[in-house]
Amino acid sequence: MLHRRRFLQLGSLGLSSFSFAGFTPDTKSGRKPLVISTWDAGIEANKAAWKVLSKGGRALDAVEQGVMVTEASQNCCVGLGANPDRDGYVTLDSCIMDEHANCGSVAFLERIKHPVSVARRVMEKTPHVMLVGTGAQQFALEEGFTLEPAKLSDDAEKAYREWLKKSEYKPVINVENAKKQTAFAPTKFDNGEWNHDTIGMVAMDASGNLSGSCTTSGMGFKMRGRLGDSPIIGAGLFVDNEVGAATATGQGEDVIRICGSHLVVELMRQGLSPEAACKKAVERIIKIKGNKASKEIQVGFIAINKKGEYGGYCIQKGFSFAVCYADDKNFMVDGKYIL
Ligand code: ASP
Repeated sequence: MLHRRRFLQLGSLGLSSFSFAGFTPDTKSGRKPLVISTWDAGIEANKAAWKVLSKGGRALDAVEQGVMVTEASQNCCVGLGANPDRDGYVTLDSCIMDEHANCGSVAFLERIKHPVSVARRVMEKTPHVMLVGTGAQQFALEEGFTLEPAKLSDDAEKAYREWLKKSEYKPVINVENAKKQTAFAPTKFDNGEWNHDTIGMVAMDASGNLSGSCTTSGMGFKMRGRLGDSPIIGAGLFVDNEVGAATATGQGEDVIRICGSHLVVELMRQGLSPEAACKKAVERIIKIKGNKASKEIQVGFIAINKKGEYGGYCIQKGFSFAVCYADDKNFMVDGKYIL
């Protein structure tokens, strides 16, 4: 199995004709269609989303198909190949939201490869918004999803064995720009880099409609039963078709505390640009926690608005997101940071 870092390098090589890091785009210009997603894995996810958007497809289909790429990758940090909880089980959380404020979510879901698609079924086929645990799994099976083997990926198995030596629950912030790697990691796992486990994606289609998705295995070695922000509408993801869409990554507890993605959208409603809205949300977390405690964590937000502008902000250096708005424009942007 490829090491995660190596996988990311290979992934970007495959895309070399139109992806490069550090590009500073003109975020003032409106783009439509447009898709953005968190972290390096966003490049591959954006490619799948763009296939839908470039053919005039719906943003909802784009954000589902986009993050499914990441969920399916055994070499990445999202989905069944990811790090388990502290009892050794991989539990997945996901949500999705469309332009009509329809939304669906699953949490604490085990052995199902595509939680985002189960979340979409919850949205479309049930009167509910969230299903969790065995109920979510039962629903998935009734909907024809397959129960995958209860087995950790090789990398996750290795990382878990390493973690068991100390069994310390220490959230580790992620740094994913290769040059800055390890700058902030207080603890290194055996594989060195699997210290976040989420992809969030928001998109606007050619008709100007917005949708978003967020999917995660949650924090590595979390307490069994712990949920973060990612499956929670308003925290890990929020879409308002009149205004914009936002999604979050990083320490979920602190995103939940401020209803992060909803806050970003509401700040855009008040006239802030996506970047300024993300910055204000990050500042609110820092204000609550204080500078010292904030240095121990990472939270990043990304957002788009109805004008086709995009932006992102994070607590500290090391967060990046992928932006795609044309066949030859799919690139990484380093998130601006406060601390
Ligand atoms: N937000 C996710 C959670 O708290 C983790 C992450 O984004 O890495 O579960």
